[in-house]
Amino acid sequence: MKKHKVVIIGSGPAGYTAAIYAARADLEPLLYEGFFSGPAGGQLMTTTEVENYPGFPKGITGPELMEAFRSQAERFGTTILTEDVQSVDFQKYPFVITAKSGVVSAQSVIIATGATARRLDVPGTKEGEFWQKGVTACAVCDGAMPIFREKHLYVIGGGDTAVEEAIFLTKFGSKVFIVHRRDSLRASKIMVDRALAHPKIEILWNHLLECVEGDSVVRSVTLKDIQTNKTSKREAGGVFFAIGHEPNTTFLQGQLELHPNGYIKVEPGTCRTSKEGIFAAGDVQDHVYRQAVTAAGSGCMAALELERWLSAQETTHV
Ligand SMILES: Cc1cc2nc3c(=O)[nH]c(=O)nc-3n(C[C@H](O)[C@H](O)[C@H](O)COP(=O)(O)OP(=O)(O)OC[C@H]3O[C@@H](n4cnc5c(N)ncnc54)[C@H](O)[C@@H]3O)c2cc1C
Repeated sequence: MKKHKVVIIGSGPAGYTAAIYAARADLEPLLYEGFFSGPAGGQLMTTTEVENYPGFPKGITGPELMEAFRSQAERFGTTILTEDVQSVDFQKYPFVITAKSGVVSAQSVIIATGATARRLDVPGTKEGEFWQKGVTACAVCDGAMPIFREKHLYVIGGGDTAVEEAIFLTKFGSKVFIVHRRDSLRASKIMVDRALAHPKIEILWNHLLECVEGDSVVRSVTLKDIQTNKTSKREAGGVFFAIGHEPNTTFLQGQLELHPNGYIKVEPGTCRTSKEGIFAAGDVQDHVYRQAVTAAGSGCMAALELERWLSAQETTHV
């Protein structure tokens, strides 16, 4: 079994940043960038323009940004495997990591497997249709784009995130509709009151999104009123899914403590998980900010914490 000092699992901004720091500290990291779990490079591979990542005043496409992260990680000696980690054994030390190509051992591990934004299987919303041409899953990331300005925007969901995103979008859209399949929101009372009081927000209770249509960008949505069974086609400039995220933790099989919503628990203000020597960075441990820059920042933190932890181990065991 090949031995490694550091194994990094996941390849978004968090994983690649952790790799840059670990590689520059001569730790020769091995990074699994994923394959079936999602596009190597992470969530930004599914987006077009990234306008809020510092350092790119004119914006940069998600894939270009992630390719730059990747080559920077490789430049300092990261070994990258384009495959998924299938399982881990954190009860043994060194830790054991299993992928299709074989089993390796690691003195320390950074988990940066991200999260997947949930989407509905609605005609018109997929890649090759209107995904990223007016349909998205991140209002904070995409809301300020010109295509959404002064348009009717539809937020799909009923929790705090949906209401937060709707309120945020009132800065850009002429009107924001929250489409919710029930007759009350799951959001906290304070958020509901804010939404109900907002002059630009209208809640469409008991409605489902049936399809999205347009030309080069979204132009309309068709909604169904589930009480009357009637459908209506409405003018629209944008559709924002706000139905939650799924942190990518299945391969952990309960070996680390998670929050009730499935995100990995870390000691507040650190990337330390419930198991010594295992660190978590990026969206897999962050259900609050979920941005590329915060993911990259926590990848850096995880690598620095790991390096200190490894040297403390070596000092203790000489
Ligand atoms: C449509 C969209 C647009 C966005 N736009 C912006 C934006 O403009 N600005 C911004 O700051 N943020 C944006 N975000 C949010 C941003 O993409 C995320 O916050 C960020 O990518 C999180 O980075 P991460 O490194 O934690 O994980 P991710 O980017 O989620 O990457 C995790 C990687 O780990 C891999 N992986 C998962 N499981 C395994 C496994 N078992 N083995 C190996 N690999 C695995 C996945 O395939 C994936 O490649 C957007 C998100 C979406 C969905």
